[in-house]
Amino acid sequence: MVQQQGPERMRNVVLLSHGGAGKTSLAEAMLYSAGAVSRLGRVDQGNTTSDYDPDEIKRKISIYLSLLPCQWQGNRLTIIDTPGYADFVGEVLAAVRVADGACVVVCAASGVEVGTEQVWDYAEEQSLPRLVFINKMDRENADFDKVVSELQARFGARCLPIELPIGAEASFQGVVDLIAMKARTGPTMEEGEVPEGLRGQAEELREKLVEAVAETDDALLTKYLDGEQLSDEELEAGLRAAILSGAVVPVMAGSALQGVGAQGLLNAIGQYLSSPLERPQTTAEGEEVAPDPSGPLGCLVFKTSADPYVGKLTYFRVICGTMSSDSTVWNSTKGRAERIGQLYRLVGKAQEAVPHLIAGDIGAVAKLAETTTGDTLCQREHPLRFPAIEFPRPSFSVAVYPKTKADLDKLGSSITRLVEEDPSLSVHRDTDTTETILSGMGEAHLEVTADKMQRKFGVEVNMEVPRVPYRETITVATNSEYKHKKQTGGHGQYGHVFLELQPLPRGTGAEFGERVVGGVVPKNYIPSVEKGVNEALAEGVLARYPVTDIRVTLYDGSYHSVDSSDIAFKIAASHAIRKGLTQGHPVLVEPIVNMRITVPESYTGDILGDLNSKRARVLGMNPHGGFNVIEAQAPLAEVQRYAIDLRSMTQGRGIYTMEPSHYEEVPAHMAQRIVAERGEAKG
Ligand code: GDP
Repeated sequence: MVQQQGPERMRNVVLLSHGGAGKTSLAEAMLYSAGAVSRLGRVDQGNTTSDYDPDEIKRKISIYLSLLPCQWQGNRLTIIDTPGYADFVGEVLAAVRVADGACVVVCAASGVEVGTEQVWDYAEEQSLPRLVFINKMDRENADFDKVVSELQARFGARCLPIELPIGAEASFQGVVDLIAMKARTGPTMEEGEVPEGLRGQAEELREKLVEAVAETDDALLTKYLDGEQLSDEELEAGLRAAILSGAVVPVMAGSALQGVGAQGLLNAIGQYLSSPLERPQTTAEGEEVAPDPSGPLGCLVFKTSADPYVGKLTYFRVICGTMSSDSTVWNSTKGRAERIGQLYRLVGKAQEAVPHLIAGDIGAVAKLAETTTGDTLCQREHPLRFPAIEFPRPSFSVAVYPKTKADLDKLGSSITRLVEEDPSLSVHRDTDTTETILSGMGEAHLEVTADKMQRKFGVEVNMEVPRVPYRETITVATNSEYKHKKQTGGHGQYGHVFLELQPLPRGTGAEFGERVVGGVVPKNYIPSVEKGVNEALAEGVLARYPVTDIRVTLYDGSYHSVDSSDIAFKIAASHAIRKGLTQGHPVLVEPIVNMRITVPESYTGDILGDLNSKRARVLGMNPHGGFNVIEAQAPLAEVQRYAIDLRSMTQGRGIYTMEPSHYEEVPAHMAQRIVAERGEAKG
């Protein structure tokens, strides 16, 4: 049972890293050190406290954030473990938003990765005080000094060791605490003297730390410049202030697998990271709110999930005030009241019932009717609203096809529920291709979504590469006349139009206008002409793709006082368009996307070669501290599976974003193939 404590004794700390650096193992080691679990779970054995979901156990990676509270030296720590794979970034952003501090985990062998930089940026955006833990010191090729210089090259000289590892790889034993100047070895941090061989380096690093801390505080600086020693207490207090302001990011070391360093990290979190009281939040209107448990209530909802036992579970952080079980709150985002039943504190997969949650607490409640991720819960008498969490634009899409008729019936509602639960997913129906397009952050993200759809709603789907929404347009201006005339006995049909078709610049779409003089086409028939034009433009003459970037002008025609009708003019316009499109040298155009690809520099050659083979244009490259950011434009048809290509080219060490840009003409030889394939599909 985790005790109730005031916000000054809380530490909500998010673990962040590139996938595989060891966050889940480190969380487990901390829980074990703090006595919150009695057995050290292993990721490889699928029995950690953090990764309990069947999706996570199956894949042996974290997919969801998890909340892992423990007591340490009078503080209540809530460790928030997050997924490291770019596919699950939605969970990372939600976790960062409700934390008061971050621990960035880096592997001692592979060092700073593209994913490290990405999570660093998230922490930076929220101004989270942070520390770095260099994990896997026991591993082959573990190199603390190398990783520290990478950190400094990437994130600045403010990344300063407060620990120095004793030994590395198989001989890794523990660390030198650079503040106390003591050795601490093994999982229990047995205190000893600094080993002789490390004394020089330890003193040098300590000096750098003292200097950096002194520089952030005038009183300390004067003392330092006068050649006086700073006491350990002064150094610790100065260091804490420097960490909270972001002037210093302390670097620590250890091995989660051996449990070494976990205790030191628990100490550092308690000692150096902020409590909720030190991080007042601002409302969407920019007003600062005090994290006071006795003030007005304000909670930010950061996650919703469908729990098999309790139904819909809403996760929130109390930012100010106190939330009580069995109360009514006001959802200021939706403008609706919500009934709060039993409140829970989350402990891994378990939920612990609690009567209240106060400012700084992270908890959950079941069965809220209206509330979704990003909403604010408050009191109606004191309405306030916090800015919603911003999620990135999904960059990987599939077309979803139900496997059976029964699946089809439930598809729409189950996708809607999943999208509601996961704001990094989106769904839409492509009006050009009529496919249901599900978009997310990568292949694994969508596979997990499909698994969930089957497990939670019993819906089975096939996921296919979406059809490319090609379009057609003309390349030369042309005029086209069509007379629709049937006058064989009885009431006849008569409509006669002259249309001018002009190509427009890319991205303008289709436009209709008229400059009929003298009423040769009476005004009341013009809407029918427009209708006929639009219907005909919906299916081009090349391969039945919609026609775009064209201006159609009705400039002449004739009518018959008895036989003319709306339908006759519509038919005439439609025929005139088909004729005009054929005359106008039609071409296929295809969607082009903007891409931004970040990879370690050594992969640049492979990436560029691959982009070249995908008909992409490289617009710029920005090498920076071991990474390269490549900006390019590419035809969507070539990069629909880029998430998979990039992963295999870089062993998962690259990331990218993609967004629609514009349409461009398809090269002639490819257009022929697309037209032929479309013909076959129709036949
Ligand atoms: P996460 O993706 O950041 O949560 O990383 P995990 O905790 O799932 O660890 C990824 C892999 O690294 C697993 O196979 C772990 O057993 C392994 N691992 C984690 N910490 C250490 C460590 O300190 N030393 C070694 N040698 N392996 C580790």
